[in-house]
Amino acid sequence: MIDIKRLASSNNDFDAQLTQLTAWEGVSDAEVNQRVHDIVHAVRAQGDQALIEFTNRFDRLQLNDSSELEFSKEELKSALENLPEKERIALQTAADRVRSYHEKQLQTSWDYTEADGTVLGQKVTPMDKVGLYVPGGKASYPSSVLMNAMPAKVAGVNELIMVVPTPDGEINSLVLAAAEVAGVDRVFRLGGAQAVAALAYGTESVPQVDKIVGPGNIYVATAKRMVFGVVGIDMIAGPSEILVVCDGQTDPDWIAMDLFSQAEHDEDAQSILIATSEEYLAQVQASIEKLLPTMEREAIIRTSLESRGAFVLVNDLDEACDVVNKIAPEHLELSVENPEALLPKIRHAGAIFMGRYTAEALGDYCAGPNHVLPTSGTARFSSPLGVYDFQKKSSIIHFSADGASEMGKVASVLARGESLTAHARSAEFRIKD
Ligand code: NAD
Repeated sequence: MIDIKRLASSNNDFDAQLTQLTAWEGVSDAEVNQRVHDIVHAVRAQGDQALIEFTNRFDRLQLNDSSELEFSKEELKSALENLPEKERIALQTAADRVRSYHEKQLQTSWDYTEADGTVLGQKVTPMDKVGLYVPGGKASYPSSVLMNAMPAKVAGVNELIMVVPTPDGEINSLVLAAAEVAGVDRVFRLGGAQAVAALAYGTESVPQVDKIVGPGNIYVATAKRMVFGVVGIDMIAGPSEILVVCDGQTDPDWIAMDLFSQAEHDEDAQSILIATSEEYLAQVQASIEKLLPTMEREAIIRTSLESRGAFVLVNDLDEACDVVNKIAPEHLELSVENPEALLPKIRHAGAIFMGRYTAEALGDYCAGPNHVLPTSGTARFSSPLGVYDFQKKSSIIHFSADGASEMGKVASVLARGESLTAHARSAEFRIKD
C-alpha cells in the first residue's frame, strides 16, 4: 500500500495544509556553504591546478595536465557521427523543434522619433560568452544540453562554453553529441562548484563567461548563488514538480505514470493530483499500486510520492484552478475534456500541458518549449528559460537641438530640486533662447 497524503478543499485548514505540502527549504546548508566557498576561493587563486585537484578528488578522474580538461573538437564530432541512427535522428528532431520554438522568442531592437526629431529606442544585444552547466554526477542529461544551449544560440551568443563532470572518466556520448548538434563551442570535463567557479572567474584554460545557466546538485546551486553578481545566473532550481488536474475521464494508468514521471527524478520531487471525485482518486491509487512494482526507479518514486506527493479533492474544476494558482507549479497538466476553458483561469505555472494526450514527458524532450522552468512556487514571478535570458538591452537616447532645449528646462528644474548643480548646468548649457 502506498501512503499518499489526502487533502480536501472542504477542510477548514486546507490553505495551511497546502502551504505545508509545498514548503521547500532552498539552498541553506552552512556546511555546504563553507565547502563551496573554499572550492570557489581555491579555483580563483590557483586556476587550472585547483581544477585538476578537485576533479581528481570529487570525480575520481586523474588528469595529467590542463590540456586534458577539455574535450577536443574531434571527440565532439565523432560522438555525433558514431551515434546509432535512431538516437541521432531523435536528437536532431528534438533540436530542430526546440530551435523553431525559441526563434519565436527573439526580441529585436526598436525606436521611435518624436516631433522635434528626438529619437528614443532600445538596442538588443546578445551576451558575448555563456557557460552551460550540464549535470553528470549520478545521471546524464542530453536533453538539458539542448534546452540550455539552443536559446543561447538563437539569441546569437558568440561563444558557448559547456562543463560536464565525467565521474571515473565516464561520459554519455549522447551528451557530447547533443553539444555538437546544439553548436556548443567548447566542452570541459568539469563539474560541481569548481566548474561554476572556473566559468565565473576564468582560469588559464577555461574562459570567463558573462552568465552561467543549467541545473545541478546542491554544490552547483550553492556555487551559482555565490558567484551571482560577478556573472549572471538563470535561476536556482528546486526539485521537479508536476501538478495534474483531472476531470476523472482520463485513463487512471496514464495519470499514475505522469505522476511517476516527475517522482522518478528524485526523492524530493513533488507529484500532486487534483480531481473532483473520490472514486477517481481511488482508481488512480489502484493504478499506482499496480504500476509501481514495474518501475526501474521504484524506490525513488515511492519515497517521493509518500513524502511529498498528494491527492487533492476539490468540488469543481474552477476550484482546482484556484489551487493551481496557490501552488504555482513547475509543470501543470490539464487532463480534462476542454482545457481551453480552464486556461484563462490559470495565472501561475511554468508550463501548461493541455488535454489528455499531452504528457508532460513530451515537454521534457521534444515538444519545443524549454524544460528549464521555475520551481517551488517561483512561477508567480518568473518564466521558463528562453532566448530573452541571453539577450540584454541598452537604452538609446538621441536628442535633437530643439528636444535638448525643451527637455533641458525640465531636467534643470528637477536637478536643482535635488541640489545637483552640475546636472542642472549640463542640461542648461543646451537650452536655446
Ligand atoms: P552534478 O553534475 O550536479 O554534480 C556532480 C558534482 O558535484 C561532482 O562533479 C562534484 O564536483 C560535486 N560533488 C559531489 N559530491 C561532492 C562533495 N562531497 N563535495 C563537493 N563537491 C561534490 O550531478 P548530480 O549530483 O547528478 O546532480 C544533478 C542534479 O540536477 C539533480 O538534483 C537533478 O535532479 C538536477 N537536474 C535538474 C534538471 C532540471 O531541469 N531542473 C535537469 C537535470 C538534472
